[in-house]
Amino acid sequence: MIKTVLVSGGAGFIGSHVTVELSQAGYEVVVADNMSNCDDTNYKGVCAILGKEPPFINMDFCDSSAVAKLFADYKIDAVIHFAAFKAVGESVAEPLKYYRNNLLSFLNVLEAARQSGAAVLFSSSATVYGEPEELPVTEASPRLPATSPYGNTKQICEDFLRDCCSAYGLRGTALRYFNPIGAHPSALIGELPRGVPNNLVPYITQTAAGKRERLSIFGNDYPTPDGTCLRDYIDITDLAKAHVCAVRRMLDGKMESGYEVFNIGTGRPVSVLELVNAFEKVNGIRLNYCFAPRRAGDVTAVWADPSLANEKLGWKAVRSVEETLAAAWAWEKRISLHEE
Ligand code: UDP
Repeated sequence: MIKTVLVSGGAGFIGSHVTVELSQAGYEVVVADNMSNCDDTNYKGVCAILGKEPPFINMDFCDSSAVAKLFADYKIDAVIHFAAFKAVGESVAEPLKYYRNNLLSFLNVLEAARQSGAAVLFSSSATVYGEPEELPVTEASPRLPATSPYGNTKQICEDFLRDCCSAYGLRGTALRYFNPIGAHPSALIGELPRGVPNNLVPYITQTAAGKRERLSIFGNDYPTPDGTCLRDYIDITDLAKAHVCAVRRMLDGKMESGYEVFNIGTGRPVSVLELVNAFEKVNGIRLNYCFAPRRAGDVTAVWADPSLANEKLGWKAVRSVEETLAAAWAWEKRISLHEE
Protein backbone atom coordinates (compact mmCIF):
# COMPACT_ATOMS: atom_id res chain seq x y z
CA MET A 1 0.00 0.00 0.00
CA ILE A 2 1.41 3.35 -1.02
CA LYS A 3 1.35 5.80 1.89
CA THR A 4 0.37 9.44 1.51
CA VAL A 5 2.32 12.24 3.17
CA LEU A 6 1.01 15.80 3.42
CA VAL A 7 3.71 18.48 3.30
CA SER A 8 2.49 21.82 4.63
CA GLY A 9 4.67 24.64 3.38
CA GLY A 10 5.71 22.31 0.58
CA ALA A 11 6.52 25.10 -1.87
CA GLY A 12 9.25 26.51 0.37
CA PHE A 13 12.96 25.78 0.59
CA ILE A 14 12.92 22.77 2.90
CA GLY A 15 9.41 21.60 1.94
CA SER A 16 10.24 21.33 -1.75
CA HIS A 17 13.36 19.23 -1.11
CA VAL A 18 11.42 16.98 1.26
CA THR A 19 8.67 16.56 -1.36
CA VAL A 20 11.26 15.36 -3.87
CA GLU A 21 12.91 12.89 -1.51
CA LEU A 22 9.61 11.45 -0.25
CA SER A 23 8.27 11.06 -3.75
CA GLN A 24 11.47 9.40 -4.96
CA ALA A 25 11.26 7.05 -1.96
CA GLY A 26 7.83 5.88 -3.16
CA TYR A 27 5.45 8.00 -1.08
CA GLU A 28 2.47 9.83 -2.50
CA VAL A 29 2.96 13.48 -1.57
CA VAL A 30 0.30 16.15 -1.24
CA VAL A 31 1.78 19.66 -1.26
CA ALA A 32 -0.07 22.48 0.51
CA ASP A 33 1.07 26.08 0.80
CA ASN A 34 -0.51 29.53 0.96
CA MET A 35 2.40 31.02 -1.04
CA SER A 36 2.70 33.84 1.51
CA ASN A 37 6.48 33.71 1.46
CA CYS A 38 7.36 32.18 -1.91
CA ASP A 39 6.33 31.95 -5.53
CA ASP A 40 5.83 28.76 -7.58
CA THR A 41 9.47 28.43 -8.65
CA ASN A 42 10.21 25.56 -6.29
CA TYR A 43 6.93 23.75 -6.95
CA LYS A 44 7.66 23.92 -10.70
CA GLY A 45 11.19 22.67 -9.99
CA VAL A 46 9.80 19.75 -7.99
CA CYS A 47 7.55 18.81 -10.92
CA ALA A 48 10.49 19.02 -13.33
CA ILE A 49 12.69 16.80 -11.12
CA LEU A 50 9.95 14.23 -10.55
CA GLY A 51 8.49 14.33 -14.05
CA LYS A 52 5.03 14.54 -12.52
CA GLU A 53 2.89 17.03 -10.59
CA PRO A 54 2.15 16.16 -6.99
CA PRO A 55 -1.29 17.45 -5.98
CA PHE A 56 -0.99 21.09 -4.88
CA ILE A 57 -3.50 22.84 -2.61
CA ASN A 58 -3.28 26.59 -2.08
CA MET A 59 -4.49 26.99 1.49
CA ASP A 60 -3.77 28.55 4.84
CA PHE A 61 -3.25 26.15 7.77
CA CYS A 62 -4.72 28.77 10.11
CA ASP A 63 -8.07 28.04 8.44
CA SER A 64 -9.34 25.06 10.43
CA SER A 65 -12.11 24.20 7.98
CA ALA A 66 -9.63 24.17 5.07
CA VAL A 67 -7.40 21.80 7.06
CA ALA A 68 -10.37 19.55 7.91
CA LYS A 69 -11.41 19.51 4.24
CA LEU A 70 -7.89 18.57 3.16
CA PHE A 71 -7.87 15.62 5.54
CA ALA A 72 -11.35 14.63 4.30
CA ASP A 73 -10.27 14.81 0.64
CA TYR A 74 -7.08 12.77 1.04
CA LYS A 75 -6.26 9.80 3.20
CA ILE A 76 -3.24 11.30 4.93
CA ASP A 77 -0.95 8.78 6.65
CA ALA A 78 1.56 11.36 7.85
CA VAL A 79 1.84 15.12 7.87
CA ILE A 80 5.07 17.12 7.85
CA HIS A 81 4.48 20.65 9.06
CA PHE A 82 6.67 23.41 7.63
CA ALA A 83 4.08 26.14 7.09
CA ALA A 84 5.30 28.92 9.39
CA PHE A 85 6.82 32.37 9.46
CA LYS A 86 10.57 32.20 10.00
CA ALA A 87 12.16 35.65 10.24
CA VAL A 88 13.66 35.98 13.72
CA GLY A 89 13.91 39.79 13.65
CA GLU A 90 10.36 40.25 12.40
CA SER A 91 9.09 37.95 15.14
CA VAL A 92 10.60 40.27 17.76
CA ALA A 93 8.84 43.26 16.17
CA GLU A 94 5.54 41.43 15.54
CA PRO A 95 5.14 38.69 18.14
CA LEU A 96 1.38 38.39 17.76
CA LYS A 97 1.70 37.76 14.03
CA TYR A 98 4.15 34.94 14.77
CA TYR A 99 2.28 33.41 17.69
CA ARG A 100 -1.04 33.54 15.86
CA ASN A 101 0.23 32.04 12.63
CA ASN A 102 2.79 29.50 13.81
CA LEU A 103 0.80 28.19 16.78
CA LEU A 104 -2.69 28.21 15.29
CA SER A 105 -1.63 26.45 12.10
CA PHE A 106 0.01 23.68 14.11
CA LEU A 107 -2.98 23.33 16.43
CA ASN A 108 -5.14 22.79 13.35
CA VAL A 109 -2.76 20.12 12.08
CA LEU A 110 -2.80 18.40 15.47
CA GLU A 111 -6.59 18.47 15.60
CA ALA A 112 -6.78 16.88 12.15
CA ALA A 113 -4.20 14.27 13.18
CA ARG A 114 -6.16 13.49 16.35
CA GLN A 115 -9.23 12.79 14.28
CA SER A 116 -7.54 10.89 11.47
CA GLY A 117 -4.70 9.17 13.33
CA ALA A 118 -2.08 10.61 10.96
CA ALA A 119 1.52 10.63 12.21
CA VAL A 120 2.98 14.12 12.69
CA LEU A 121 6.48 15.39 11.95
CA PHE A 122 7.29 18.86 13.25
CA SER A 123 10.13 20.95 11.83
CA SER A 124 11.94 22.21 14.89
CA SER A 125 15.26 23.93 15.21
CA ALA A 126 18.57 23.98 17.05
CA THR A 127 17.44 27.40 18.23
CA VAL A 128 15.76 25.55 21.13
CA TYR A 129 19.25 24.95 22.61
CA GLY A 130 20.06 28.67 22.81
CA GLU A 131 23.71 29.29 23.76
CA PRO A 132 24.63 25.79 24.96
CA GLU A 133 26.96 25.24 27.88
CA GLU A 134 28.20 21.93 26.52
CA LEU A 135 28.99 21.04 22.93
CA PRO A 136 28.01 19.21 20.86
CA VAL A 137 24.36 19.26 21.89
CA THR A 138 22.42 16.04 22.29
CA GLU A 139 18.64 15.74 22.38
CA ALA A 140 18.99 15.59 26.18
CA SER A 141 20.74 18.97 26.31
CA PRO A 142 18.55 21.54 28.05
CA ARG A 143 16.22 23.69 26.02
CA LEU A 144 17.03 27.24 27.06
CA PRO A 145 14.58 30.14 27.20
CA ALA A 146 13.97 31.36 23.66
CA THR A 147 15.43 34.72 22.69
CA SER A 148 12.75 35.50 20.08
CA PRO A 149 9.06 34.77 19.58
CA TYR A 150 10.06 32.70 16.54
CA GLY A 151 12.30 30.51 18.71
CA ASN A 152 9.57 30.34 21.32
CA THR A 153 7.07 29.00 18.76
CA LYS A 154 9.47 26.12 18.05
CA GLN A 155 9.58 25.18 21.73
CA ILE A 156 5.83 25.59 22.18
CA CYS A 157 5.02 23.49 19.10
CA GLU A 158 7.36 20.73 20.31
CA ASP A 159 5.41 20.77 23.59
CA PHE A 160 2.06 20.75 21.77
CA LEU A 161 3.17 17.65 19.87
CA ARG A 162 4.61 15.88 22.94
CA ASP A 163 1.41 16.45 24.92
CA CYS A 164 -0.89 15.37 22.08
CA CYS A 165 1.14 12.18 21.55
CA SER A 166 0.80 11.37 25.21
CA ALA A 167 -2.91 12.27 25.52
CA TYR A 168 -4.26 10.97 22.22
CA GLY A 169 -1.82 8.20 21.41
CA LEU A 170 -0.55 10.07 18.34
CA ARG A 171 2.80 9.29 16.77
CA GLY A 172 4.97 12.40 16.61
CA THR A 173 8.55 13.32 15.73
CA ALA A 174 10.33 16.63 16.11
CA LEU A 175 13.44 17.11 13.97
CA ARG A 176 15.76 19.80 15.25
CA TYR A 177 17.54 21.24 12.24
CA PHE A 178 20.92 22.87 12.54
CA ASN A 179 21.79 25.20 9.61
CA PRO A 180 20.27 23.87 6.36
CA ILE A 181 22.13 25.18 3.29
CA GLY A 182 22.63 24.40 -0.39
CA ALA A 183 20.28 23.39 -3.16
CA HIS A 184 19.20 20.31 -5.06
CA PRO A 185 22.01 18.90 -7.27
CA SER A 186 19.76 19.55 -10.32
CA ALA A 187 19.76 23.29 -9.45
CA LEU A 188 16.00 23.19 -10.09
CA ILE A 189 15.02 23.95 -6.48
CA GLY A 190 16.72 25.99 -3.78
CA GLU A 191 16.47 28.88 -1.38
CA LEU A 192 14.64 31.99 -2.60
CA PRO A 193 14.73 34.61 0.15
CA ARG A 194 12.52 37.64 -0.33
CA GLY A 195 14.40 40.92 -0.08
CA VAL A 196 17.74 41.09 1.70
CA PRO A 197 18.71 37.62 2.95
CA ASN A 198 19.11 37.11 6.68
CA ASN A 199 20.94 33.82 6.33
CA LEU A 200 24.61 33.47 5.56
CA VAL A 201 24.67 31.28 2.44
CA PRO A 202 22.05 33.18 0.40
CA TYR A 203 23.90 36.36 1.33
CA ILE A 204 27.16 34.82 0.10
CA THR A 205 25.69 33.61 -3.20
CA GLN A 206 23.91 36.91 -3.86
CA THR A 207 27.15 38.79 -3.20
CA ALA A 208 28.98 36.50 -5.59
CA ALA A 209 26.23 37.09 -8.17
CA GLY A 210 26.60 40.87 -7.79
CA LYS A 211 23.16 41.37 -6.24
CA ARG A 212 24.76 42.52 -2.96
CA GLU A 213 27.84 44.65 -2.81
CA ARG A 214 29.56 43.08 0.15
CA LEU A 215 29.03 40.37 2.75
CA SER A 216 29.34 41.49 6.37
CA ILE A 217 30.74 38.84 8.68
CA PHE A 218 29.03 39.55 11.96
CA GLY A 219 31.73 39.48 14.63
CA ASN A 220 35.34 38.33 14.55
CA ASP A 221 35.94 38.62 18.28
CA TYR A 222 34.06 35.52 19.43
CA PRO A 223 35.95 33.05 21.64
CA THR A 224 36.42 30.60 18.74
CA PRO A 225 39.60 29.58 16.85
CA ASP A 226 39.24 32.29 14.17
CA GLY A 227 36.97 34.65 16.11
CA THR A 228 33.85 33.97 13.97
CA CYS A 229 30.79 31.96 15.03
CA LEU A 230 30.63 28.19 14.74
CA ARG A 231 27.60 26.44 13.23
CA ASP A 232 26.64 23.00 11.93
CA TYR A 233 25.82 23.53 8.24
CA ILE A 234 23.77 20.67 6.87
CA ASP A 235 23.14 19.99 3.19
CA ILE A 236 19.48 20.45 2.27
CA THR A 237 19.26 17.10 0.45
CA ASP A 238 20.83 15.29 3.39
CA LEU A 239 18.35 17.05 5.67
CA ALA A 240 15.42 16.18 3.40
CA LYS A 241 16.38 12.49 3.48
CA ALA A 242 16.17 12.52 7.27
CA HIS A 243 12.44 13.24 6.88
CA VAL A 244 11.97 10.14 4.76
CA CYS A 245 13.67 8.05 7.46
CA ALA A 246 11.59 9.66 10.23
CA VAL A 247 8.29 9.20 8.35
CA ARG A 248 9.18 5.58 7.61
CA ARG A 249 10.00 4.96 11.27
CA MET A 250 6.63 6.35 12.35
CA LEU A 251 4.59 4.56 9.69
CA ASP A 252 6.40 1.24 10.05
CA GLY A 253 5.74 1.14 13.79
CA LYS A 254 9.41 1.36 14.73
CA MET A 255 9.16 4.17 17.29
CA GLU A 256 10.29 3.47 20.83
CA SER A 257 7.82 5.96 22.28
CA GLY A 258 4.92 8.00 20.95
CA TYR A 259 7.01 11.15 20.67
CA GLU A 260 10.63 11.24 19.56
CA VAL A 261 13.13 14.05 18.98
CA PHE A 262 16.22 13.97 16.77
CA ASN A 263 19.04 16.37 16.01
CA ILE A 264 19.56 16.73 12.27
CA GLY A 265 23.09 17.96 11.77
CA THR A 266 26.52 16.79 10.67
CA GLY A 267 28.32 16.94 14.00
CA ARG A 268 30.95 19.16 12.38
CA PRO A 269 31.45 22.76 13.50
CA VAL A 270 32.37 25.20 10.72
CA SER A 271 33.17 28.88 11.28
CA VAL A 272 31.70 31.68 9.19
CA LEU A 273 35.16 32.44 7.83
CA GLU A 274 35.79 28.79 6.97
CA LEU A 275 32.50 28.66 5.12
CA VAL A 276 33.32 31.82 3.16
CA ASN A 277 36.78 30.46 2.30
CA ALA A 278 35.33 27.11 1.22
CA PHE A 279 32.81 28.88 -1.02
CA GLU A 280 35.59 30.91 -2.66
CA LYS A 281 37.80 27.87 -3.18
CA VAL A 282 35.26 25.41 -4.55
CA ASN A 283 33.68 27.94 -6.90
CA GLY A 284 36.85 29.85 -7.87
CA ILE A 285 35.39 33.19 -6.76
CA ARG A 286 36.79 36.04 -4.68
CA LEU A 287 34.06 37.26 -2.39
CA ASN A 288 33.85 40.88 -1.30
CA TYR A 289 33.47 40.71 2.47
CA CYS A 290 34.30 42.69 5.58
CA PHE A 291 34.11 42.20 9.32
CA ALA A 292 31.23 43.94 11.01
CA PRO A 293 29.97 44.13 14.60
CA ARG A 294 28.27 41.13 16.15
CA ARG A 295 24.59 40.61 15.25
CA ALA A 296 22.21 40.82 18.20
CA GLY A 297 20.92 37.44 19.30
CA ASP A 298 23.63 35.31 17.65
CA VAL A 299 25.08 32.50 19.75
CA THR A 300 28.83 31.87 19.68
CA ALA A 301 28.74 28.21 18.79
CA VAL A 302 26.27 25.40 18.31
CA TRP A 303 26.69 22.04 16.64
CA ALA A 304 24.94 18.71 16.85
CA ASP A 305 25.68 15.34 18.22
CA PRO A 306 23.70 13.53 15.51
CA SER A 307 24.38 10.01 16.81
CA LEU A 308 20.78 9.36 17.91
CA ALA A 309 19.50 10.08 14.39
CA ASN A 310 22.38 8.07 12.92
CA GLU A 311 21.46 5.07 15.04
CA LYS A 312 17.66 5.19 15.29
CA LEU A 313 16.77 6.70 11.92
CA GLY A 314 19.57 4.95 10.03
CA TRP A 315 20.38 8.36 8.59
CA LYS A 316 23.64 10.24 8.24
CA ALA A 317 24.70 13.47 6.56
CA VAL A 318 27.03 12.52 3.71
CA ARG A 319 27.65 15.63 1.63
CA SER A 320 30.74 17.76 2.15
CA VAL A 321 30.49 21.50 2.74
CA GLU A 322 32.26 22.00 -0.61
CA GLU A 323 29.70 19.96 -2.56
CA THR A 324 26.90 21.84 -0.85
CA LEU A 325 28.40 25.25 -1.56
CA ALA A 326 28.92 24.31 -5.21
CA ALA A 327 25.22 23.36 -5.41
CA ALA A 328 24.21 26.64 -3.74
CA TRP A 329 26.20 28.59 -6.32
CA ALA A 330 24.80 26.58 -9.27
CA TRP A 331 21.29 27.41 -8.03
CA GLU A 332 22.06 31.10 -7.52
CA LYS A 333 23.49 31.38 -11.04
CA ARG A 334 20.39 29.78 -12.49
CA ILE A 335 18.07 32.08 -10.57
CA SER A 336 20.11 35.24 -11.25
CA LEU A 337 20.34 34.56 -14.98
CA HIS A 338 16.64 33.75 -15.06
CA GLU A 339 15.79 37.11 -13.51
CA GLU A 340 17.87 39.19 -15.90
N1 UDP B 1 26.19 35.70 9.30
C1 UDP B 1 27.07 36.66 8.85
N2 UDP B 1 26.66 37.51 7.86
C2 UDP B 1 25.41 37.45 7.30
C3 UDP B 1 24.51 36.44 7.77
C4 UDP B 1 24.95 35.59 8.76
O1 UDP B 1 28.20 36.76 9.32
O2 UDP B 1 25.09 38.27 6.41
C5 UDP B 1 26.63 34.75 10.34
C6 UDP B 1 25.79 34.82 11.61
O3 UDP B 1 26.31 35.81 12.48
C7 UDP B 1 25.97 33.39 12.15
C8 UDP B 1 26.13 32.53 10.91
O4 UDP B 1 26.48 33.44 9.86
O5 UDP B 1 27.15 33.31 12.90
C9 UDP B 1 24.87 31.80 10.50
O6 UDP B 1 23.80 32.72 10.44
P1 UDP B 1 22.42 32.35 9.79
O7 UDP B 1 21.54 33.58 9.87
O8 UDP B 1 22.62 31.77 8.42
O9 UDP B 1 21.83 31.18 10.69
P2 UDP B 1 21.59 31.12 12.30
O10 UDP B 1 22.70 30.30 12.85
O11 UDP B 1 21.55 32.53 12.81
O12 UDP B 1 20.29 30.43 12.41
